[in-house]
Amino acid sequence: MWNFLKDVWHLFGRLFPFPTKPGLRRIGDPDRSSPVLVTCNYELTVRKVIQTLVRDGVDAWLLVAPTKGINVWCAAGGGHFTTDTVVSILKTSGIDNHVDHRRLILPQLSARGVNFWGVKEHTGWKPRFGPADIKDLAAYLRAGKSRTEREHRRVKFVVKDRFVMGTNLGFNTVLLLILPLLISSIWLTGLWWKTLPLLFVLSVASSVGVFWLPGKVGVQKGVSLGVLAAAIFVVLSQTFWQLPPWPLLGWTGWIVVLSAYVGYDMPSWSPLWRQDPKELVLGVKQTQIEIIQEKCINCHLCDIVCPSDVFRHDPEAKKYEVANLDACQACGACIENCPTEAIVSNFRGGTCACPTCAIIDGVGALKRKTQKREVPTVEPVPAAANCDTEACQCALEDREPGIELQTPENENGIRFP
Ligand code: SF4
Ligand code: SF4
Repeated sequence: MWNFLKDVWHLFGRLFPFPTKPGLRRIGDPDRSSPVLVTCNYELTVRKVIQTLVRDGVDAWLLVAPTKGINVWCAAGGGHFTTDTVVSILKTSGIDNHVDHRRLILPQLSARGVNFWGVKEHTGWKPRFGPADIKDLAAYLRAGKSRTEREHRRVKFVVKDRFVMGTNLGFNTVLLLILPLLISSIWLTGLWWKTLPLLFVLSVASSVGVFWLPGKVGVQKGVSLGVLAAAIFVVLSQTFWQLPPWPLLGWTGWIVVLSAYVGYDMPSWSPLWRQDPKELVLGVKQTQIEIIQEKCINCHLCDIVCPSDVFRHDPEAKKYEVANLDACQACGACIENCPTEAIVSNFRGGTCACPTCAIIDGVGALKRKTQKREVPTVEPVPAAANCDTEACQCALEDREPGIELQTPENENGIRFP
């Protein structure tokens, strides 16, 4: 019953923090060679990860990192799931005493905030980025490869995910606008109580239909949806309510305006969306990202962490290149993890600007002002001995067929950190 109530809340309030206790969880009957996984301490994520692993018969150690109760994607984008978070949970959980290996599987969507090289250097553990969807984790573990299959690295955003995003988007939009609508004069006309459910329905519809609606970007898709919804409204109103012309015109215009707003607002809830207004409204791509070929050492990490399939490997040159710029979401995961700073862009990662993160950051800043905190120092430790054996499958050692790894110090004199 309690879990059901929590699921209902998560259907609408997923953008609000819902923490569960950080620490080490034993899943099934793990031994000293069992995989070690990391996730956030968002209650729903932890519950789903455990349920999925139990269902798939995976024995594992699960490290629940303190991410302020925020999901992986948002926490990584908002600076709450970082290299320090992973280092901290590794050092405080006592996991070293339970396993003989030092291989760590991170959620792929944490790559925006977690630096592969930083975790490795500061802990001696060798991280890998697992699949984007927890459902693919068992297959990934059973395959025994260090790198996820290409299709498991991409965020698919299926109808169910889009529906949940829509309900959350709608709920938050209503919460955000309820006060302005209440204090504006339109509540006197009774318009506000019709506007709020309309906003919710448009939010769900725009999210579910995001791939089908005409238009390049959210606003254009919102207008398309608004025109469609207004046309349906005209037919219904003429059939059932016989609205006079002026109210009819007013409502159709209002529906299009609300829908355009919902379309504009949709990406702004994502911590990963930082596009220029020209891009958001007109669909003129402003995001630029490229790879300086001379600096690329063919380590594959950009491709491994990219949720949008932006990069292509050039087997001749043994380099990566940007092949699908339109798909780039400006998440910054590739930039965060490139060991040679070969990836340059016209955007910068950083703290998420969504209302949830703004509140958390504001509260955090207030706390820091009133508290004296001791900042823990982290010393680099040597890698575990067995990580240098052939059995070890860290990200750099498992090549795709035909792909050769360049030595850590390549011809450009660039060295891994
Ligand atoms: S992460 Fe950087 S060095 Fe590695 S393949 Fe990509 S561009 Fe090249
Ligand atoms: S290419 Fe774009 S979407 Fe892919 S990891 Fe880099 S910033 Fe993110």
